[in-house]
Amino acid sequence: MLEGLKRTVLKANLDLVRDGLVVRTWGNASGIDRESGLVVIKPSGVSYDTMNEGDMVVIDLDGRVVEGGYRPSTDAPTHIYLYREYPSIGGVVHTHSAFATAWAQAGRDIPAFGTTHADHCYGAIPCTRKLTREEVGNEYELNTGKVIAERIGANDPLMFSSVLVYSHGPFCMGRDAPDAAGKATELEEIARMAYFTVVLGQTVPVDDYLLGKHFSRKHGRGAYYGQDKSKGS
Ligand SMILES: [Zn+2]
Repeated sequence: MLEGLKRTVLKANLDLVRDGLVVRTWGNASGIDRESGLVVIKPSGVSYDTMNEGDMVVIDLDGRVVEGGYRPSTDAPTHIYLYREYPSIGGVVHTHSAFATAWAQAGRDIPAFGTTHADHCYGAIPCTRKLTREEVGNEYELNTGKVIAERIGANDPLMFSSVLVYSHGPFCMGRDAPDAAGKATELEEIARMAYFTVVLGQTVPVDDYLLGKHFSRKHGRGAYYGQDKSKGS
Protein backbone atom coordinates (compact mmCIF):
# COMPACT_ATOMS: atom_id res chain seq x y z
CA MET A 1 0.00 0.00 0.00
CA LEU A 2 1.00 3.64 -0.54
CA GLU A 3 3.88 2.60 -2.81
CA GLY A 4 4.25 6.11 -4.28
CA LEU A 5 4.41 7.68 -0.84
CA LYS A 6 6.97 5.10 0.31
CA ARG A 7 9.19 6.02 -2.66
CA THR A 8 8.83 9.71 -1.85
CA VAL A 9 9.63 9.20 1.85
CA LEU A 10 12.63 7.00 1.04
CA LYS A 11 13.90 9.70 -1.33
CA ALA A 12 13.49 12.37 1.38
CA ASN A 13 15.47 10.23 3.85
CA LEU A 14 18.24 9.70 1.30
CA ASP A 15 18.21 13.44 0.45
CA LEU A 16 19.21 14.07 4.07
CA VAL A 17 22.25 11.81 3.65
CA ARG A 18 23.16 13.36 0.27
CA ASP A 19 23.06 16.85 1.78
CA GLY A 20 25.22 15.84 4.74
CA LEU A 21 22.53 16.42 7.35
CA VAL A 22 22.64 13.00 9.02
CA VAL A 23 25.36 10.69 10.26
CA ARG A 24 24.68 7.10 11.25
CA THR A 25 20.88 6.92 11.69
CA TRP A 26 20.38 10.34 13.34
CA GLY A 27 17.50 11.61 11.31
CA ASN A 28 14.09 10.71 10.01
CA ALA A 29 11.61 11.81 7.38
CA SER A 30 7.93 11.00 6.99
CA GLY A 31 5.03 11.83 4.70
CA ILE A 32 1.27 11.60 5.08
CA ASP A 33 -1.50 10.48 2.74
CA ARG A 34 -4.28 12.80 3.85
CA GLU A 35 -7.00 10.79 2.13
CA SER A 36 -6.38 7.66 4.21
CA GLY A 37 -4.82 9.46 7.17
CA LEU A 38 -1.85 7.09 7.01
CA VAL A 39 1.75 8.13 7.59
CA VAL A 40 4.83 6.55 5.97
CA ILE A 41 7.93 6.93 8.11
CA LYS A 42 11.52 5.73 8.24
CA PRO A 43 12.08 2.56 10.26
CA SER A 44 13.98 2.88 13.53
CA GLY A 45 17.73 2.22 13.47
CA VAL A 46 17.99 0.84 9.91
CA SER A 47 21.16 1.83 8.03
CA TYR A 48 20.71 4.29 5.17
CA ASP A 49 23.13 2.22 3.07
CA THR A 50 20.74 -0.66 2.67
CA MET A 51 17.38 1.04 3.22
CA ASN A 52 14.80 0.52 0.50
CA GLU A 53 11.18 1.56 0.03
CA GLY A 54 9.90 -1.76 1.36
CA ASP A 55 11.53 -0.93 4.71
CA MET A 56 9.32 2.14 5.17
CA VAL A 57 6.71 1.70 7.91
CA VAL A 58 3.04 2.64 7.51
CA ILE A 59 1.36 3.89 10.70
CA ASP A 60 -1.98 5.48 11.48
CA LEU A 61 -2.52 8.75 13.33
CA ASP A 62 -2.77 6.83 16.61
CA GLY A 63 0.74 5.45 16.04
CA ARG A 64 -0.35 1.87 15.29
CA VAL A 65 1.70 0.02 12.68
CA VAL A 66 -0.51 -0.75 9.68
CA GLU A 67 2.21 -2.26 7.48
CA GLY A 68 5.94 -2.90 7.71
CA GLY A 69 8.47 -5.35 9.08
CA TYR A 70 10.29 -2.84 11.30
CA ARG A 71 9.37 -0.62 14.21
CA PRO A 72 8.77 2.99 13.12
CA SER A 73 11.21 5.76 14.04
CA THR A 74 11.15 6.48 17.76
CA ASP A 75 10.24 10.07 16.88
CA ALA A 76 6.99 8.95 15.21
CA PRO A 77 4.77 10.46 17.98
CA THR A 78 6.32 13.89 17.28
CA HIS A 79 5.58 13.55 13.55
CA ILE A 80 2.02 12.40 14.26
CA TYR A 81 1.37 15.28 16.63
CA LEU A 82 2.43 17.78 13.94
CA TYR A 83 0.27 16.09 11.25
CA ARG A 84 -2.74 16.24 13.57
CA GLU A 85 -2.10 19.85 14.52
CA TYR A 86 -1.38 21.19 11.01
CA PRO A 87 -3.60 19.82 8.21
CA SER A 88 -1.68 21.82 5.57
CA ILE A 89 1.60 19.92 6.00
CA GLY A 90 2.44 16.74 4.10
CA GLY A 91 5.96 15.98 5.31
CA VAL A 92 8.06 16.19 8.48
CA VAL A 93 11.84 15.87 8.78
CA HIS A 94 14.09 15.69 11.84
CA THR A 95 17.89 15.80 11.81
CA HIS A 96 20.80 16.49 14.12
CA SER A 97 22.61 18.58 11.48
CA ALA A 98 25.55 20.26 13.18
CA PHE A 99 24.95 24.00 12.93
CA ALA A 100 21.18 23.92 13.48
CA THR A 101 21.77 21.59 16.44
CA ALA A 102 24.45 23.92 17.83
CA TRP A 103 21.86 26.73 18.00
CA ALA A 104 19.36 24.31 19.59
CA GLN A 105 21.95 23.26 22.17
CA ALA A 106 22.64 26.92 22.93
CA GLY A 107 18.88 27.37 23.35
CA ARG A 108 18.88 30.29 20.93
CA ASP A 109 16.55 31.44 18.18
CA ILE A 110 18.45 32.00 14.91
CA PRO A 111 18.12 35.71 14.12
CA ALA A 112 17.27 36.68 10.55
CA PHE A 113 20.59 38.25 9.57
CA GLY A 114 20.14 38.45 5.82
CA THR A 115 18.21 37.70 2.67
CA THR A 116 19.12 33.99 2.54
CA HIS A 117 17.31 33.61 5.84
CA ALA A 118 14.45 35.84 4.68
CA ASP A 119 13.82 33.58 1.69
CA HIS A 120 13.33 30.68 4.13
CA CYS A 121 11.42 32.25 7.01
CA TYR A 122 9.85 35.60 7.88
CA GLY A 123 11.74 36.30 11.09
CA ALA A 124 13.90 34.36 13.52
CA ILE A 125 13.95 30.54 13.46
CA PRO A 126 12.42 29.80 16.87
CA CYS A 127 13.90 27.58 19.55
CA THR A 128 11.43 25.89 21.89
CA ARG A 129 11.45 26.11 25.65
CA LYS A 130 13.09 23.31 27.64
CA LEU A 131 10.96 20.28 28.29
CA THR A 132 10.32 19.71 31.98
CA ARG A 133 11.45 16.61 33.85
CA GLU A 134 7.84 15.35 33.72
CA GLU A 135 7.53 16.02 29.98
CA VAL A 136 10.73 14.08 29.31
CA GLY A 137 9.77 11.26 31.66
CA ASN A 138 6.29 10.71 30.28
CA GLU A 139 5.38 10.75 26.55
CA TYR A 140 8.61 12.53 25.66
CA GLU A 141 8.19 12.37 21.86
CA LEU A 142 4.58 13.57 22.01
CA ASN A 143 5.62 16.46 24.27
CA THR A 144 8.37 17.34 21.79
CA GLY A 145 5.60 17.88 19.22
CA LYS A 146 3.71 20.03 21.70
CA VAL A 147 6.60 22.41 22.43
CA ILE A 148 7.18 22.78 18.67
CA ALA A 149 3.52 23.73 18.20
CA GLU A 150 3.79 26.19 21.10
CA ARG A 151 6.42 28.13 19.13
CA ILE A 152 4.61 27.99 15.77
CA GLY A 153 1.43 29.22 17.42
CA ALA A 154 -1.10 30.49 14.92
CA ASN A 155 1.50 30.93 12.17
CA ASP A 156 1.29 28.93 8.95
CA PRO A 157 3.70 25.96 9.38
CA LEU A 158 4.50 26.08 5.65
CA MET A 159 5.76 29.64 6.11
CA PHE A 160 7.38 29.05 9.52
CA SER A 161 8.55 25.60 8.64
CA SER A 162 11.60 25.15 10.88
CA VAL A 163 11.76 24.92 14.67
CA LEU A 164 14.71 24.08 16.91
CA VAL A 165 13.95 21.88 19.90
CA TYR A 166 15.95 23.03 22.92
CA SER A 167 19.02 20.84 23.67
CA HIS A 168 17.99 18.57 20.80
CA GLY A 169 17.82 19.67 17.16
CA PRO A 170 15.72 20.84 14.24
CA PHE A 171 12.32 19.69 12.98
CA CYS A 172 11.14 20.94 9.57
CA MET A 173 7.77 20.73 7.84
CA GLY A 174 6.85 20.90 4.18
CA ARG A 175 4.17 20.26 1.56
CA ASP A 176 5.55 16.72 1.29
CA ALA A 177 8.56 14.77 2.61
CA PRO A 178 11.10 15.96 -0.03
CA ASP A 179 9.94 19.55 0.51
CA ALA A 180 10.53 19.17 4.27
CA ALA A 181 13.97 17.65 3.54
CA GLY A 182 14.77 20.68 1.37
CA LYS A 183 13.77 22.94 4.26
CA ALA A 184 16.16 21.02 6.53
CA THR A 185 19.00 21.64 4.04
CA GLU A 186 18.16 25.35 3.84
CA LEU A 187 17.97 25.57 7.63
CA GLU A 188 21.40 24.03 8.10
CA GLU A 189 22.92 26.51 5.66
CA ILE A 190 21.16 29.44 7.37
CA ALA A 191 22.31 28.20 10.80
CA ARG A 192 25.88 27.97 9.51
CA MET A 193 25.81 31.48 8.04
CA ALA A 194 24.25 32.89 11.22
CA TYR A 195 26.95 31.25 13.33
CA PHE A 196 29.70 32.93 11.33
CA THR A 197 27.78 36.22 11.29
CA VAL A 198 27.71 36.20 15.10
CA VAL A 199 31.39 35.24 15.25
CA LEU A 200 32.15 38.25 13.03
CA GLY A 201 30.41 40.47 15.54
CA GLN A 202 27.03 41.20 13.97
CA THR A 203 24.13 41.03 16.42
CA VAL A 204 21.52 43.17 14.66
CA PRO A 205 18.99 41.38 12.43
CA VAL A 206 18.34 42.40 8.84
CA ASP A 207 16.10 45.44 8.35
CA ASP A 208 12.40 44.69 8.39
CA TYR A 209 11.75 46.15 4.94
CA LEU A 210 14.42 43.94 3.32
CA LEU A 211 13.28 40.84 5.24
CA GLY A 212 9.68 41.44 4.11
CA LYS A 213 10.68 42.09 0.51
CA HIS A 214 12.63 38.84 0.19
CA PHE A 215 10.08 36.68 1.95
CA SER A 216 7.10 38.03 0.03
CA ARG A 217 8.69 37.85 -3.43
CA LYS A 218 9.17 34.12 -2.86
CA HIS A 219 6.20 33.16 -0.68
CA GLY A 220 3.69 35.99 -0.49
CA ARG A 221 0.58 36.68 -2.53
CA GLY A 222 1.94 37.88 -5.85
CA ALA A 223 5.25 36.05 -5.40
CA TYR A 224 7.42 36.45 -8.49
CA TYR A 225 10.48 34.28 -7.74
CA GLY A 226 11.06 31.33 -10.10
CA GLN A 227 9.01 30.47 -13.19
CA ASP A 228 5.30 30.94 -13.75
CA LYS A 229 4.03 27.34 -13.93
CA SER A 230 0.71 28.41 -15.48
CA LYS A 231 2.60 29.44 -18.61
CA GLY A 232 3.95 25.96 -19.26
CA SER A 233 7.48 25.70 -20.57
ZN1 LIG B 1 16.63 13.64 17.54
